Amino acid sequence: MAEKVAPAKSPGKAKPLLAMKFGGTSVGNAERMERVAEIIREHASQAEIVVVVSAMGGVTDMLIRAATEASRGDREHWKSVRQELARRHREVADRLLSAGEQAAVLPRLAEHVNQFENLCSGFSLVREVTPRAMDTLSSLGEVMSATLMAAILRTKGLPAEAVDAVECIVTDEHFGNATPLFAETDLKTSERLAPLRRRGTIPVVTGFRGATREGLCTTLGRGGSDYTGTIIGAALDAEEICIWTDVDGVMTADPRLVPAARIIPEISYREAIELSFFGAKVLHPKTIQPVMKKKIPVWIKNSFNPACPGTKIGPAAANGQPGVKAITSVSKADLITISGKDTLSFAQLASKVFAALSLEGIATLMVTQSSADNVLCFAVHNADLKRVKTKLEKVFELEILHDYVAALEVMPHVAMVVAIGENMKGTPGIAGRAFSALGRRSINIIAIAQGSSELSISFAVKSSDVKDAVQAIHEEFQL
Ligand code: ASP
Ligand code: MG
Repeated sequence: MAEKVAPAKSPGKAKPLLAMKFGGTSVGNAERMERVAEIIREHASQAEIVVVVSAMGGVTDMLIRAATEASRGDREHWKSVRQELARRHREVADRLLSAGEQAAVLPRLAEHVNQFENLCSGFSLVREVTPRAMDTLSSLGEVMSATLMAAILRTKGLPAEAVDAVECIVTDEHFGNATPLFAETDLKTSERLAPLRRRGTIPVVTGFRGATREGLCTTLGRGGSDYTGTIIGAALDAEEICIWTDVDGVMTADPRLVPAARIIPEISYREAIELSFFGAKVLHPKTIQPVMKKKIPVWIKNSFNPACPGTKIGPAAANGQPGVKAITSVSKADLITISGKDTLSFAQLASKVFAALSLEGIATLMVTQSSADNVLCFAVHNADLKRVKTKLEKVFELEILHDYVAALEVMPHVAMVVAIGENMKGTPGIAGRAFSALGRRSINIIAIAQGSSELSISFAVKSSDVKDAVQAIHEEFQL
């Protein structure tokens, strides 16, 4: 992306600000962290940089598991995790830091490892881990990786300082999946980073974590460091934000399903949101939200292949090609059907269902109404099925008892295949072509939905058909 960042407009004028977020695999070991430092160095010659880092790959999983085991009373498991945590970070310090930096950083890493140990020991004693305590523990990996990354940059002669995002990002109190309070976050972030920026010091901010107004540590949900990248970038009015990951960009389909899938050079914000909502792993679903109003472009680039241009996500894709842009899928879903009798209007039925789902925080993947009778059908992630069933059976207990509502029907092993493209709007025949392509492969469509925004068309098919279905549509639209 080096060439894409506009050079300073005139000598002496401030450089454009570039926010760069590096994911867990990009900072997975010493060699990769060194590569990241080189990427930062390259860009630092043309832009002012703010860095956001994830925990080293695998660390968050390890921390969460350790806490869970400890809360079940296992007093051994976290001791081995402690060793591993210390070993992985220490190895990076040994290999990449100057003696002076080691002297400064090793005691700090040791402190974090101690904090891990104290927390786990506490969990094992009380046999419980609260969401609040889990947030403090599960985001320790980010604190450690940011500490290391800043020290690596300093060892290379680049001024840098680790910043804990609890000092920048203000969130609500939804521990485990907190939402930022943007106005406060923007202010706090600018204020916290201003002195560093004035000195020309690169802030290296911890991804994933924030804090409530009272200063209690929260997290932004798994994979939330992408979100941190755009929250920080937007707060500082960055010229561009770059999410460095381990794939070349956003692809037309999952390459495991479609070997012919290719990188999409440019997609719109809305397309990216749609893709991440429907299971594309490349972005955390909330990532785009903070940049939409300010129209800041977000790049997806591969830290293992920085020469590849990647994907640009912006207000509107320049590529005006009509039709389908990408296909995504959710392979483990269930279709739930709920049928009301005449005495219960569809609106009554639907409002009750969605109020219940919203209380449980459950996202639906597709919703359809059959109008002749009061039949509501919707798809949910299989992981949510149990909660949905329990909740709805409770909410409709009386109606089911008195036969106003038939018992819930669940169709398991369903996959959602979703064709996405902003320019499908107003292009006739797209649904027809997709139908025919599936028909030619004898794939039965169980349900279909398209919103009036025509940004996506979703098909529910049997799980076992998902690969074929994605391939068929990919081929049909020559992606
Ligand atoms: N380390 C956190 C996770 O694994 C956040 C992130 O990497 O985006 O979920
Ligand atoms: Mg990620």
